[in-house]
Amino acid sequence: MVQLLYTRYVAATPVEDIQCVAQTIRRTRCSAPVLAPGTTAGRWTLMPPTPHRRGTQQLALPNADIAVYDLTRLSYSEQKRWRTQRCPAHAAAITTPDLVLADWEPFDPLLHHALTATRLPAHPSPHP
Ligand SMILES: [Zn+2]
Repeated sequence: MVQLLYTRYVAATPVEDIQCVAQTIRRTRCSAPVLAPGTTAGRWTLMPPTPHRRGTQQLALPNADIAVYDLTRLSYSEQKRWRTQRCPAHAAAITTPDLVLADWEPFDPLLHHALTATRLPAHPSPHP
């Protein structure tokens, strides 16, 4: 789950595996990751599952916070690059066609409940 440009999307792959969609001069798909070395990374954070909706309690949605890869502190152009799913090189090459469609699917708390994680990805705990 990724949040960018005020919208949450479900990614088809883990964040670090999201691949550029542009076509290379060899007519193959670019193999560079969107989360390229040297670019600003997002931050995993726990958020309420339904920030923008009211009255969802009656739908019996779980209220547990979900893990979201938050990209909203990145610059607008960087968030746009993520949205278009391109590596930094291809974000600048706007005439390069996309070989495949971007994989983003807008997040729906009902549809995607099974995909949501209520814990952050494992990393060293600050507490013993
Ligand atoms: Zn690329």
